[in-house]
Amino acid sequence: MKNIVILGSTGSIGKNALEIVRRFPDEFNIVGLSANKNIELLLKQIEEFKPQFICITSKNGYENFKKEVDYKKLGVELLYGEKGLVELATLETADIILIAVVGFSGFRPTYEALKKDKVVALANKESLVAGGELISRINSGKIIPVDSEHSAIFQCLRGESINEVEKLILTASGGAFFRKDINEFKNITVEEALKHPNWSMGAKITIDSSTMMNKGLEVIEAHYLFNLPPEKIKVVIHPQSIVHSMVEFIDGSIIAQMGITDMKLPIGFALFYPKRQNLKNDNLNLLKISPLEFFPPDFKKFPCLKLAFDVLKNDKSGTIVLNSANEVAVDSFIKREINFTQIPIVIEKTLNKVKLFKIKSVEDILAVHKKSTDTARKVVKELRGK
Ligand code: NDP
Ligand code: MG
Repeated sequence: MKNIVILGSTGSIGKNALEIVRRFPDEFNIVGLSANKNIELLLKQIEEFKPQFICITSKNGYENFKKEVDYKKLGVELLYGEKGLVELATLETADIILIAVVGFSGFRPTYEALKKDKVVALANKESLVAGGELISRINSGKIIPVDSEHSAIFQCLRGESINEVEKLILTASGGAFFRKDINEFKNITVEEALKHPNWSMGAKITIDSSTMMNKGLEVIEAHYLFNLPPEKIKVVIHPQSIVHSMVEFIDGSIIAQMGITDMKLPIGFALFYPKRQNLKNDNLNLLKISPLEFFPPDFKKFPCLKLAFDVLKNDKSGTIVLNSANEVAVDSFIKREINFTQIPIVIEKTLNKVKLFKIKSVEDILAVHKKSTDTARKVVKELRGK
């Protein structure tokens, strides 16, 4: 039986992970869960999975919960904020920590869990994008990727030597606007960007997929996870999302990992690792799928992807600036403060304004995150003429 902590249990990844736990009650024991605002769902999860600890990260959520719920009667200990996430991520009794919160909030718990030598099932790509310089230094093979592309590469590399890798080939669905004319991009609405053709996911990553920043973040994630230079990481558009990614070896062989588009597969792989388990899911029926297509990415249509490759060329604090500016830009787009084509503009302008340097400490990362967030907010204001 594995003791599991899930940070972000009320999100898309969190709920899928709990569905796996529900299917295998003898394999897993939930020791900790976290939510930001969705207290109603968290309460249901507490009743069903009976964790020892919970953490609520938003101030309002925490205070309402404390006021309205007799949580001691439920037998749980209540934690708060980032400090609470770190406490959960480093629990003595936990065997595996699934980091499924969204955005930069995942960095600190991921870093502290790894420092304590915990096994980390990592969905939160932003923590590696922002914290990769430090995380890659302390990661001694304890990260099991949950992002489907990185899970695919991880599986293709099992038993292989990284020195024999020619390149990683990350597949991308192309997002909602792969076939849309670039001249129509400025009229794209939030509702259109929130419709992903193949995957059902949280709001931020769905918008990131529509700008292709999601793939950009994944290139950086792959760079830090597999310790390969950006020249060895390629992106191909594969609209069917059947091949989740590939590894090309120096002898010309390419190994690909395929499956249905259901995040329970990579989540299940990470939770059961190093074993495989019949997840009681649908399997891929090769006779029923449409032809598999592959296209080169269009960097002009999707400048966010180019910006992500660019920041990897320079001093690595650029990856933090890119990530934080993107978080502000996506948030502003969802609030209808800027239009779709202004997302990469906010990121590029922020990158031009924030001084880059070599990251040495957690404090450096936190400082660059704060500076970039503040700068990106100012850029948004300027763009709105305020
Ligand atoms: P969701 O938006 O669905 O869920 C996010 C979770 O994080 C929720 O539990 C939410 O709580 C919590 N949360 C929100 N804001 C904060 C905050 N400021 N601090 C702490 N916790 C917070 O996201 P997804 O599940 O889609 O994605 C989670 C992570 O996994 C992201 O980093 C994403 O890039 C990555 N990922 C997701 C995939 C997917 O298929 N969804 C695929 C690959 C990677 P509440 O519900 O209470 O607001
Ligand atoms: Mg992915």
